[in-house]
Amino acid sequence: ESMEYGPATEDPSAVRDWLTARGSFGHFIAGRFTKPVETFVTSDPSTGQPLAQISQGTARDVAKAVRAARRAARGWGAMAGHDRARFLYAIARTIQKRERFLSVLETLDNGKPIRESRDIDIPLVVRHFYHHAGWAEIAATEFPGHTPLGVVGQIIPWNFPLLMLAWKVAPALAAGNTVVLKPAEYTSLTALAFAEICAHVGLPAGVLNIVTGDGATGAALVEAPIHKIAFTGSTEVGREIARNLAGSGKKLTLELGGKSPFVVMADADLDAAVEGVVDSIWFNQGQVCCAGSRILVAEAISERFETLLRRRMQKLRLGSPLDKSTDIGAIVDPVQKTRITGILDRATAAGAELIGGQAQQGCFIAPGYLRNIAPANPAMREEIFGPIATLSTFRTVDEAVDLANNTAYGLAASVWSESATVATDLASRIKAGVVWVNCANIFDASAPFGGVRDSGYGREGGREGMLDYLSAPTLTGVKDPQPAAISAVPDGL
Ligand code: NAD
Repeated sequence: ESMEYGPATEDPSAVRDWLTARGSFGHFIAGRFTKPVETFVTSDPSTGQPLAQISQGTARDVAKAVRAARRAARGWGAMAGHDRARFLYAIARTIQKRERFLSVLETLDNGKPIRESRDIDIPLVVRHFYHHAGWAEIAATEFPGHTPLGVVGQIIPWNFPLLMLAWKVAPALAAGNTVVLKPAEYTSLTALAFAEICAHVGLPAGVLNIVTGDGATGAALVEAPIHKIAFTGSTEVGREIARNLAGSGKKLTLELGGKSPFVVMADADLDAAVEGVVDSIWFNQGQVCCAGSRILVAEAISERFETLLRRRMQKLRLGSPLDKSTDIGAIVDPVQKTRITGILDRATAAGAELIGGQAQQGCFIAPGYLRNIAPANPAMREEIFGPIATLSTFRTVDEAVDLANNTAYGLAASVWSESATVATDLASRIKAGVVWVNCANIFDASAPFGGVRDSGYGREGGREGMLDYLSAPTLTGVKDPQPAAISAVPDGL
């Protein structure tokens, strides 16, 4: 079968052949790949082996991509919604046909267990494009008078490379915008494979452009003549972008970091809650913005909970990300591993006790948690972004709420109780964009996701996510005009 947009197999050697055949990737601009000029290596973090050369995007590359997106904006924005939907359906279907290839490619580039890329990341990507094909179909009737923004610049992180791309690209295209996307420098490969898929389905040139590179490339995109920036990444960079865009008239949505509480009440189903921790902080090596990184346990059950937790933790298998039985894969890059171990060293120097969590050879860190940790310990506030949670106890519901909210972030929370009243009362008092009850890290394309406070603003997914890619009409009530409002409009306008 054709290798045109990736092999139809999950055989890693076929995926490596696909990479070797390309060798060096240019940017994807106006429907074709540019010739690579200045490049850097992207590697498999689990082995350190180089995978391919990626282009370092300059301000000129960004300008070229933005021009292509501007040229394509009129045609794409004016196209009937059901015609745009056809492209989104075709993209979804083609990704589905290449699910196994994309899962292996994601795992090679990022280090996440193949079980996660295959069962979580890529199926959610597909779902996101199908869902937004539906929005494209009904956008004109659902959002009367709304218009696309124009050209959207999108900057994404490395923890869920293709999924973060889908969260950004699908609603932007459904709403009739054109896109210039910059993937994270560690993990650009699935974005480039996605570009081949867009070319394969005949997406009009310039509707989707990808410029690879590091933070400087992202900064150039922020400066470029685009209408909106959608950013997912660290709070630090998000702040810098917000400062740079102030007064520019460009729209901005930010999905930033978190330090999400995971609250276990005394009446919780402890076995289920322990599985919740696995899904929460030991998923994707803890490199999850909404990871339940602060475990708060009712004192009355904390001993029993910890016993169960340690037993479960010891069963987690750390190893080659391509091995189907691996639970904990590689940290994305040695730089991130060093950052994580630095936080852990400072946490233990300040008196915390680390259970598990040892750094291993290569880019691996065993799952673990910090106990006996003082509220003032920096690890209680800093995002560790690794497979290590903090564990502390509380006595009363009020104390649980205070501890849960004792953070500058507000992305997510998870609460565990067998009483619906207790759980929903607690959930309503926690300041977070999403609160999961008796579950964790559940995502769906129809459920808007996003944070409050230092975790950012704007939503991705569902109706709210669509609205963040549309410009509202100045005159509302089109369907049922208010006579007073209409007569207030002077003649000749
Ligand atoms: P990062 O902020 O360093 O990088 C994110 C992206 O921004 C990358 O593509 C990077 O190249 C680019 N970038 C870096 N400097 C830039 C600049 N000055 N101007 C423009 N772009 C720039 O973050 P990271 O280390 O890649 O990702 C980890 C962080 O992302 C964590 O804090 C995590 O919580 C957050 N995150 C949030 C969400 C969410 O949905 N809220 C999802 C995933 C990750």
